Amino acid sequence: MNKKTGTKGARLNINSYLWLIKPTHNTFFIMGLLTGKVALITGATRGIGRAIATKYATEGANIAFTYLSSEEAAQSLVAELEGLGVKAIGYRSDAASYDQAHTLVAEVQKEFGKIDILVHNAGITRDTLLMRMGEEMWDAVINTNLKSAYNITHAITSVMARQRSGSIIYMSSVVGLGGNAGQANYAASKAGLIALAKSVAKELGARGVRANCIAPGFIQTDMTAVLSDDIKASFVENISLRRAGTPEDVAGVALFLGSDMSAYVTGQTIACCGGMRG
Ligand code: NAP
Repeated sequence: MNKKTGTKGARLNINSYLWLIKPTHNTFFIMGLLTGKVALITGATRGIGRAIATKYATEGANIAFTYLSSEEAAQSLVAELEGLGVKAIGYRSDAASYDQAHTLVAEVQKEFGKIDILVHNAGITRDTLLMRMGEEMWDAVINTNLKSAYNITHAITSVMARQRSGSIIYMSSVVGLGGNAGQANYAASKAGLIALAKSVAKELGARGVRANCIAPGFIQTDMTAVLSDDIKASFVENISLRRAGTPEDVAGVALFLGSDMSAYVTGQTIACCGGMRG
């Protein structure tokens, strides 16, 4: 008998952040950091959003997520999350649409009964120098990245305020902190998310609702796969840890902000960039 875990011979793989409670005979109830919570994640079929969905599910959260067009990826994600033992539903919902955001929140609330965590992660780029940036490039990025945050926050505010709890996480970017040539639209949208989080934190703090941002640096996903090898190499040279980030790196920060470990953290932006120099 292993006195520490109470198992008979069997080895239990315990992640440092899993809590074991109440061992009875050979049975354990293993609780994740998000057990019993419901998370809504926008744009989770790929990249960072997908990594957050699987990380949250591994920690016991039931998952509602959105996508725009990746139907097959959405189905495979539902299967993957259900395989982790949680409830999962994917919704095709355009983040840029006010009406679709409100319908989405109403449906998730009806299906899951509550929403504890919102990760607003959906985002796009339309990069070029400002002088060449057409109005449609500006509007597409602002609508998908920033107005979308207003859409879904406006929809979810009453749900979380009624619950008197909730954690809202906006996926910003280091370029929202420092700006970037060729990304004026994207940088402006990501800076807007930082100010939005600070404002929501002030408006809803008294109701127990927190709002924070994550500012990823150079993360390996479809979004950055289009960059040339030279640009990728120059990014890495400028990163203290000398490597690109992974979606899982960002998911770790999202886990902290979504869980009660960050219960006293609100209105903040956490950079997840390997020490990228601006
Ligand atoms: P990605 O691989 O391009 O994935 C984007 C996700 O957003 C997909 O699931 C996509 O759905 C969804 N999406 C796009 N437009 C949408 C819309 N209008 N409505 C609903 N969903 C929509 O992107 P990523 O690299 O993982 O980035 C995720 C977030 O992190 C973005 O906000 C991005 O700006 C931010 N970020 C990324 C980096 C980086 O280096 N990768 C750095 C800083 C910040 P479909 O699959 O259906 O298209």
